[in-house]
Amino acid sequence: MSRFAEVIIDIAYNKLDRPFTYKVPDRMQKTLQTGSLVLVPFGKGNVMRKGYVIALKDECGLPPDKVKEIAELPVGDSGYSEDPDGAAAIALAAWMKRQYGSTMAAALKTVLTSRKPGKPVKTREIELRLSREEAEEQLAVYVKKHQVARERLLRELMDVPRQPYSLVTGKLHIAAPVIRAMAQAGVIEVLEESSFRNPVSFDSAEADAKELSSAQKAIVDGVLADHDAGRSTVSLIHGITGSGKTEVYISIIRGICERGRKAIMLIPEIALTYQTLLRFYRYFGERVSVMNSSLSESEKADQWERARRGEIDVIIGPRSALFTPFKELGVIVIDEEHEGSYKNESMPKYHTRETAVELARMKNACVVLGSATPSLESYDRAIRGEYRLYRLSERLTGGTLPEVSIADLRQELRNGNRSIMSEQLQGLLEDRLNKGEQSILFLNRRGMAGFVSCRSCGSVIKCPHCEVSLSLHRNGKLVCHYCGYEQPDVKECPECGSPYISAMRAGTEQIEEHLKIRYPGARVLRLDADTTSKKGSYDKILSSFANREADILVGTQMIVKGHDFPGVTLVGILLADLSLYAGDYRAAERTFQLLTQAAGRAGRGEVPGSVVIQTYQPENYAVQYASRQDYEGFFEEEMRYRSLLMYPPAAHMLCVQIQSRDEDKAEGFAGRIRELFMRDDPEAFVIGPAKGSLSRIRDQYRYVVYVKNEKYDKLVRCKDRAEAFQAYLIKIGRDPQVLMQFDFDPVSPF
Ligand code: ADP
Ligand code: ZN
Ligand code: ZN
Repeated sequence: MSRFAEVIIDIAYNKLDRPFTYKVPDRMQKTLQTGSLVLVPFGKGNVMRKGYVIALKDECGLPPDKVKEIAELPVGDSGYSEDPDGAAAIALAAWMKRQYGSTMAAALKTVLTSRKPGKPVKTREIELRLSREEAEEQLAVYVKKHQVARERLLRELMDVPRQPYSLVTGKLHIAAPVIRAMAQAGVIEVLEESSFRNPVSFDSAEADAKELSSAQKAIVDGVLADHDAGRSTVSLIHGITGSGKTEVYISIIRGICERGRKAIMLIPEIALTYQTLLRFYRYFGERVSVMNSSLSESEKADQWERARRGEIDVIIGPRSALFTPFKELGVIVIDEEHEGSYKNESMPKYHTRETAVELARMKNACVVLGSATPSLESYDRAIRGEYRLYRLSERLTGGTLPEVSIADLRQELRNGNRSIMSEQLQGLLEDRLNKGEQSILFLNRRGMAGFVSCRSCGSVIKCPHCEVSLSLHRNGKLVCHYCGYEQPDVKECPECGSPYISAMRAGTEQIEEHLKIRYPGARVLRLDADTTSKKGSYDKILSSFANREADILVGTQMIVKGHDFPGVTLVGILLADLSLYAGDYRAAERTFQLLTQAAGRAGRGEVPGSVVIQTYQPENYAVQYASRQDYEGFFEEEMRYRSLLMYPPAAHMLCVQIQSRDEDKAEGFAGRIRELFMRDDPEAFVIGPAKGSLSRIRDQYRYVVYVKNEKYDKLVRCKDRAEAFQAYLIKIGRDPQVLMQFDFDPVSPF
């Protein structure tokens, strides 16, 4: 019996980010535990606040009448089961607080996000009620009547006879009335949770289990051997798309489940396609659960609740699925581990990969990372032996690698072609339109402010200190977002004297317009942030393209993930330079990844594909290595650059972000942080202060100071010093009135 609880109040105010002691009422003695969400009276007015219990104890050392009592335990009250693992969650939150510099309250909120009470929802499934022959007959009827949606659903069910309702309506876009009509006609049945039978034995599932190649088997055996020996290892699978990584993940997870432990499968939201989900569903049936952003908070809480009760073995989802409360966690798989979306961009600014490794260490579980273009961080660790490295180098479905060529836009300009498309790309596109094959045109645009480049020679204006491109600001100055270096905009190219030098801009909408005018008969679809803002529209556009309802798909990097388009035989990358000069040290890496992945979209079917990369800098190493699909070559060259300039992963980098409504205050405090760091260590690599890349957002002025060091711990010390400094100023009545946040090894510029 514990009489007192230490509670962290859920409040975004640094000064209150410490435990407060409360009495535990008798009625909660059985249910309250570390990790519980509670309501407590707080402050002078005893306002009810949410809080998290981080420890229980018998003594408190305070006069008893000074200690208030916990008012409510909402999670327990609403019938949620007990947390098998609250203590581990709290340890993880404490690690995140230290590692990423956030408040304990924010870290707890992230880790314990599942403790939101909600109404339980029913899980439903759709089952085919026809025999094989009957189904064939019915299918013929649908085809004849052009009932496309029914036909589609029936085909999918003939493949896998029972599927989650949410998958059918969500990812497959079959509307509820269609399902109702088919159910009324006796073609299908909608099963409510209570009517679930024992796990169905999918005839197809067993038959479908692929005989693994020896390379695949070696990975599965290796990971399971590590697991069985109690070694908490990290394995990196470097394998091109289609090389059988997902099949490996499934086999590993099956092995883990057979051992009575659980698995977390992380996939970037954008790559969570129907096909992928179905593959997992086939193997794990109702023992798998999917998490994605289209679920409401209470639906998410329900999934977590099922996990807590031990009803599921596998959870699939984007980064937040990492915090699923599994007690017997055996493996965490991270697919597309290089993806930027694994970095959380709000407090705590954690990286999913690192946090997964820490969680696995605490739980004695294994981590498996997979990518066709691993992050430099992971590959560096793998070749240094910190991670195990496995390679899958063949495409198992056949399909040859595409032929990649580079179109030199400087030459096009010399030839008098000022359109967005090179002669070469136009020729190939027309050829595909004539043959009825599909094409993808890809604009690797990042939301960032324009860099300035020369159309004649391709050179870009860079910061003389940081080797990243300068960005053109509205005041006409060229600015470095790392060190704050500024210079006036240029009227002619400093390299070749050409007057064709300016900020580069291009939009998907313009390209769509251009295509419609030039090829009036062609059916064009556009996929970007604008066309996908409506819920479900992203999947809709992609499935429509996959169904060959369009000839050309124009879009941003959203295109390159997930879906397989066997009909695509041409991929055009309109302007490779766009992501090359995003003004941060990861620009080349991101470009290499995007180009490689975009290229991988061509020629997935029978017909070999072509890829055209258009650029003003054909000699750039990221473009060159991507065109040759040479990951190792790129890695080595990029690591040389990172080492030379001490960028991660060659060293670590802390970005101190300072915001204020008052520009002088933000700039002034940033300057004092710089002084503080320099005073502590005159040898330190301190850079800035500089204006943030979006120097003002929502009336907040943003300034940054960077510190680099080979030792991560040194940067944690810098963070602690900065926090203590701010706290001290507040204490002596000189509050700098700024918001200070930290980003370790930043992925996106601030
Ligand atoms: P990745 O995840 O690397 O893109 P997948 O696991 O999706 O690769 O595999 C690509 C294709 O190859 C899939 O259609 C899959 O069914 C098939 N495949 C995977 N492993 C095997 C195998 N051992 N034998 C036959 N086909 C396989
Ligand atoms: Zn030039
Ligand atoms: Zn600079």
